[in-house]
Amino acid sequence: MYTPLVQNQRKFFLSQGTKSLDYRKDLLLKLRSVLQENEVELQRAVHADFGKSRFDFLTTEMSMIYNELDFFLKNLDSLAAPTTAKTNLSNLPALSSIHYDPLGVALIIAPWNYPVQLSFTPAIAALAAGNTVILKPSELTPKTSEVIAHIINSNFSMHQLHVVEGGVAESKALLEQRFDKIFFTGSVETGRKVYKAAAEHLTPVTLELGGKSPCIVAKSAPVDVAAKRIVWGKFLNAGQTCIAPDYIYVHSSVKDELIARMIENIEKAEYEPNAAWYPKIVNFEHFERILKLIDQQKVVYGGQHHAEKRYIQPTLMDNVSWDDAVMGEEVFGPVLPILCYEDWEQMEYEITHRPSPLAAYLFSRDSHEKARFKTHFHFGGGCINDVVMHVANPHLPFGGVQFSGTGSYHGKFGFEAFSHAKPIMHRATFGEPNIKYPPYTEEKLKWVKKLL
Ligand code: NAD
Repeated sequence: MYTPLVQNQRKFFLSQGTKSLDYRKDLLLKLRSVLQENEVELQRAVHADFGKSRFDFLTTEMSMIYNELDFFLKNLDSLAAPTTAKTNLSNLPALSSIHYDPLGVALIIAPWNYPVQLSFTPAIAALAAGNTVILKPSELTPKTSEVIAHIINSNFSMHQLHVVEGGVAESKALLEQRFDKIFFTGSVETGRKVYKAAAEHLTPVTLELGGKSPCIVAKSAPVDVAAKRIVWGKFLNAGQTCIAPDYIYVHSSVKDELIARMIENIEKAEYEPNAAWYPKIVNFEHFERILKLIDQQKVVYGGQHHAEKRYIQPTLMDNVSWDDAVMGEEVFGPVLPILCYEDWEQMEYEITHRPSPLAAYLFSRDSHEKARFKTHFHFGGGCINDVVMHVANPHLPFGGVQFSGTGSYHGKFGFEAFSHAKPIMHRATFGEPNIKYPPYTEEKLKWVKKLL
């Protein structure tokens, strides 16, 4: 079904159409103005899909996109310029260099939770690196998908950047094609399927997946700061954030204080069913899934819900153990389980002997704990004394590790994800040792032994 589309893009790519930096910059500038012109329409669509407010839309979707566009417009010349490398003795005289080649036709499959940002941020990196792009937004945010398809497909040529709408069937059909790069953001389960499909064509992938991201609150934690920042990061987008703290692991000595401070912060923020700025759960299926994770016996705050509004109150669950349903899957909703520890070693063991999460957070004032956190724990990325904000630093790579993903992007890391670093050694036509060429006499062997 998608063969002509992919062929068309590959033909354009092979015609060298995407290589010039002026072409790429024009494309990025055009994308910037198309997005700006249609910002209100996009915001209305995201709001219609799951009630995301204009504030969240601007701060968590558009700002990341504009920052990424500006980064590439400013830095493309230096990113794309060949770099020189040293040449080793046995290859002299020669000049060595590394050239950054676009990979070709890129497929980007996006999720629904930040449906604009997670569609365009990888697309911008792919276009900046000189690829063509086919983008498939999520079917769970259908209005956003429709607007994205409309504004892109009516403003860009099919061979440069094209949006395909649809769900699992369309995604699977796309994956039957041979791409030169697949960039997938979504669940671990789907990521596995995408990886398998990519293997069929030996296509390189970046997989941006999920997982259960822990937030450790240690004995020496600045509890007030921790409570405020955790509440903000957890209930942002109604908990539907891949790097939201999935659960808290708190030292017993500060647990009560942390819970009390978190409740204060939740109440201050007024996450009411009628709050125009508090997003809904994306659909009824997810609403029901999240409710099933709540054990009312363990709720210390929240637990209210409203099916018609797809509203779930920010909910804190205390005395949670690894056997609880809420610890059996990524929560991806406004429910925060709290586990408690006495002994750092035990807590560290529990976390590090489970799949490596996309993010991890530590609140602590203790330099020894901070060092342990940095070296003993494996996770995609994270913060000390904050949550979520590392995603907004364009100078850091963003991505998972092991079960939470492979590869990374943002800023120069996105450029690298969509490029091949091609080494070229430009040799002089003189000054070559004869020893390399046969026949391999005893005399030559003696020289080799000496050199080694
Ligand atoms: P999902 O895996 O259900 O869907 C993601 C995309 O894959 C959608 O476009 C969907 O149409 C497509 N898809 C679904 N099933 C498919 C199949 N069998 N074959 C091919 N394509 C298929 O994920 P979701 O529900 O949209 O997103 C939630 C998940 O994404 C969470 O696990 C979250 O942690 C993760 N996530 C990760 C990041 C990140 O940056 N690492 C960001 C956002 C979300």
